[in-house]
Amino acid sequence: MSAEVLKGGPIAEAILDELKPQIEKLKDTRPPKLVAILAGDNPGSKFYAKSQQKDCDKLGIGYELRELPDDIGENDMLGVIEELNEDEAVTGIILLVPVPKGLDARALQAAIAPSKDVDGVHPANLGLVVQGDRTLAPCTAQAAVAMVEAAGITVEGAEVVMVGHSEIVGKPTALLLLEPLATVTVCHIGTKDTAAHTREADVVIVATGVPGLVKADWIKPGALVVDVGINRVKGEDGKTKIVGDVDPGVAEVAGILTPVPGGVGAVTAAMLMKNTVAAAAMQACV
Ligand code: NAD
Repeated sequence: MSAEVLKGGPIAEAILDELKPQIEKLKDTRPPKLVAILAGDNPGSKFYAKSQQKDCDKLGIGYELRELPDDIGENDMLGVIEELNEDEAVTGIILLVPVPKGLDARALQAAIAPSKDVDGVHPANLGLVVQGDRTLAPCTAQAAVAMVEAAGITVEGAEVVMVGHSEIVGKPTALLLLEPLATVTVCHIGTKDTAAHTREADVVIVATGVPGLVKADWIKPGALVVDVGINRVKGEDGKTKIVGDVDPGVAEVAGILTPVPGGVGAVTAAMLMKNTVAAAAMQACV
């Protein structure tokens, strides 16, 4: 058996299409504008900023990359965030991570006004996820859930195993799936036998940053496997390639599998646009 491949592209397109009339409506009241803050010269962050700019351009959303020196102090960073919080023309703020050494990303993210926190990482927005409100939930968690929904799985009563318990992926994804009454087990680095859990699951979502961690014999035949991992590894030809956290052999056992690249990542980018529009819409009402 070879798993059906559930690509992220069409799901992302559908999300972006739904945003167009909302953006049109906001034009006269609160046109969405996203500002990304980049401290230092991280090539990965620059890559993400470029693709954010492209997505915003396509939708007619304003975008600005605020580039700051890598030796910027925490107080100056907080000053920039405060200025953007107060700027009415700015409806969304995202801090590109990792930040340079000496800066505390969590403290900086907590300084972003919750109503402009389109990355969904402010404690207030993470708290709303606990209450089942995913308006400004973390983009990757929303993307993982969108993949499960697109697979047509009946979530209520499904046995879901979330491998990984980070603040931006594992924990919020687990909470978002609890809401429609999935039975969610969270595995992590301290779990004694992760495979024993995943083998029983109807849905396995993996976000560990460990290339190829989940093997074919970890998966129940026919299960849905959502691979969130994005890992840069050297291939046999010496070239760098992107691989997920799921071993390619899983395709022989799973019923549906999301590819890497071309899976969750594309939907995560679309969710950032969705959050950016949602934030502007919320601000338009006040
Ligand atoms: P993280 O480093 O914050 O967390 C990793 C998690 O994996 C932890 O909970 C840890 O306990 C768990 N873990 C590590 N090794 C494990 C093991 N052997 N067995 C079980 N659990 C283990 O990572 P993160 O920020 O959640 O990112 C995870 C992966 O998802 C990375 O590859 C990252 O690049 C990718 N990612 C993808 C997207 C996307 O849009 N597709 C977005 C964010 C992150």
